[in-house]
Amino acid sequence: MEHKNQVFDNVLDLVGNTPLIKLNKITSQINGDFYAKVEAFNPGHSSKDRIALYIIEQAEKQGLLKPGDTIIETTSGNTGFSIAMVSIIKGYDCILAVSSKSSADKIDMLKTMGAKVYVCPANVSADDPRSYYEVAKRLHEEIKGSVYINQYFNQLNIDAHYLSTGPEIWKQTEGKITHLVACSGTGGTISGTAKYLKEQNPNIKIVGVDAFGSVLKKFHETKVFDEKEIYPYRIEGLGKNLIPTATDFDIIDEFVKVTDEESAHTARQIAKSEGLFVGYTSGAAMQAILQLGKVKKFSKNDVVVVIFPDHGSRYMSKIYSDKWMNEQGFFDSVNVESVQGIQY
Ligand code: PMP
Repeated sequence: MEHKNQVFDNVLDLVGNTPLIKLNKITSQINGDFYAKVEAFNPGHSSKDRIALYIIEQAEKQGLLKPGDTIIETTSGNTGFSIAMVSIIKGYDCILAVSSKSSADKIDMLKTMGAKVYVCPANVSADDPRSYYEVAKRLHEEIKGSVYINQYFNQLNIDAHYLSTGPEIWKQTEGKITHLVACSGTGGTISGTAKYLKEQNPNIKIVGVDAFGSVLKKFHETKVFDEKEIYPYRIEGLGKNLIPTATDFDIIDEFVKVTDEESAHTARQIAKSEGLFVGYTSGAAMQAILQLGKVKKFSKNDVVVVIFPDHGSRYMSKIYSDKWMNEQGFFDSVNVESVQGIQY
């Protein structure tokens, strides 16, 4: 639904059609026009509302779900929240297997939204029986008539963005977009959006954002799954320790890696300079643009769209907590008073 002054049947009518907001200050030193697709304007405050609604409605169309059935998923939090929200409106039970890396706020929120949450260790391999993939798979086998969303390996994840995010950005930029910069987790956002955009104009450059500690960039460049690339990192929802089939690596032109520390500071900078209170991966995506800007990747007439996947309120105990930033050593090399504020 496009207009805010309408009355809606329920919260799900507000999924999608998020605004594209011009970035005016943070990119002032870089050539080109920069716009953020601010997915926090979805009712569940993230891009994952799109895939939750789309995948569940596709399952309904196929006759796989009836009221009272169970929907199962692995999630760093956002997809879980969206599935829980859709489940409430449509009358399903929701079970979520969550990584222990997820913030306490996110887990509390999922429980508040009626989901049953299993917290699984983050730093075990994907095929370990304790991993959230294996726990979700087991629950799916055990619970009769349950539907497993399986966002990392579900083509419908790509389709959801192909049918919504892509066309919205094309329309909002009046076809002028030259670059898309988006984080890659499942890869659904970047792959589906890019597919639509490249069908309209194959010259549009697609930049994926990956984390140090994740295999995606190396796999994109070499087609080799290099386990040495995998180590713990802080950013939630970005990068991976496996190769998701919901990522179309061929459609991505290049990957940029970003650090936990720079991404955290950049998220804070977005809030301070643009008044947009967005999540950790929004900082990561913006950090990728700043890195590319430094090596003069963009020119004057470029129209760059960056996807900001979620809202900052989900990170109050992490990047927006001075205590947490200090504990990570993220204030060690900066003027603490200028970022933490004056103490009375
Ligand atoms: N940012 C956040 C906060 C996320 O939760 C996710 C999803 N894991 C992403 C970015 C990446 O989106 P996608 O899974 O579509 O690649």
